[in-house]
Amino acid sequence: MAKMYYEKDANLDVLEGKKVAVLGYGSQGHAHALNLKDSGVDVVVGLYEGSKSWDKVKEDGLTVMNVEDAVKVSNVIMMLLPDTKQKKVFDDNVKANLKEGDALAFAHGFNIHFNQIVPPENVDVFMVAPKGPGHLVRRVYKEGKGVPALFAVYQDYTSNAKELSLAYASGIGATRAGVLETTFKEETETDLFGEQAVLCGGVTELIKAGFDTLVKAGYQKEIAYFECLHEMKLIVDLLYEGGFEKMRYSISDTAEYGDYMVGKRIVNEDTRKEMEQVLKEIQNGKFAKDWIVENEINRPVFNSFRNKELEHPIVEVGKNLREMMSWIND
Ligand code: NDP
Ligand code: MG
Ligand code: MG
Repeated sequence: MAKMYYEKDANLDVLEGKKVAVLGYGSQGHAHALNLKDSGVDVVVGLYEGSKSWDKVKEDGLTVMNVEDAVKVSNVIMMLLPDTKQKKVFDDNVKANLKEGDALAFAHGFNIHFNQIVPPENVDVFMVAPKGPGHLVRRVYKEGKGVPALFAVYQDYTSNAKELSLAYASGIGATRAGVLETTFKEETETDLFGEQAVLCGGVTELIKAGFDTLVKAGYQKEIAYFECLHEMKLIVDLLYEGGFEKMRYSISDTAEYGDYMVGKRIVNEDTRKEMEQVLKEIQNGKFAKDWIVENEINRPVFNSFRNKELEHPIVEVGKNLREMMSWIND
């Protein structure tokens, strides 16, 4: 079994006398900054002037300054800007303000692994990547719990980068749940593969294909929505709590028999071959290159898909049904 690191393996004192700059105050940024502060770490938030997040940081009782100043006064610089903006901010505002022995930190390996950000040699570079959305990272911390995370050291200038990353992981609450060591390459490639093939691309296409099949055959859209989308959560909750075993224990034997007979017809050998191809395109940099170029030309493909998806009938029926289940968003 992979080595896990917990509270006893991390020493928060490593951050004593150091200041942490959290750049960005979005999903991850607000969670890291507030959790670190509550853990007794000295934190500042770095943003651009005019940022929508600026006042929010102040309301939350934290110090906010522009990125350059935040980097200058800090020893650990955590990059929590959108991945597509990190290269420019690093080149324009961060790089020249780094001091020897500082640490540059990330929550995702994309920009380092695909050489978009090339850090100077005289700093540490590490990653602490929570395996959950930022709002959960904050919420469970307040409940005394944590979201598990991965950590990785890319560059160890001070010979202290591993202790520092574990201390950081502890500061955001991750060592309460368990932290696993990885590399920037492994984190980046598995994260991209997971979101594309399984979690986001895989799941939404599976839901749409099921919904479309039922609606095309003349069944009511509302039934198709409940069956293919709404119930997904109930099943996933069981998977999350107790794996396939608990899910299959909870469903009827009829559902379990159907599961064994039909699952492999839906996700078949061709699907698995395609998954291998998807993984290859992540590993050889094709996906990264396409996405970088797409951003350089202002996202024509991305925007057209985003708009087109909103026209799918599942959007309208879902909106109406969820309005009647007001507790869903409590
Ligand atoms: P968000 O898009 O939620 O937040 C971006 C923040 O950066 C906002 O506060 C935004 O300000 C600010 N920002 C945008 N441009 C600049 C700029 N030029 N200079 C300074 N600040 C700027 O990002 P995420 O939290 O989703 O992602 C951050 C990192 O965390 C990424 O590397 C991502 O891969 C990683 N990650 C994200 C997860 C998640 O839960 N979302 C999960 C695990 C990792 P404004 O409000 O003005 O736009
Ligand atoms: Mg991701
Ligand atoms: Mg059923």
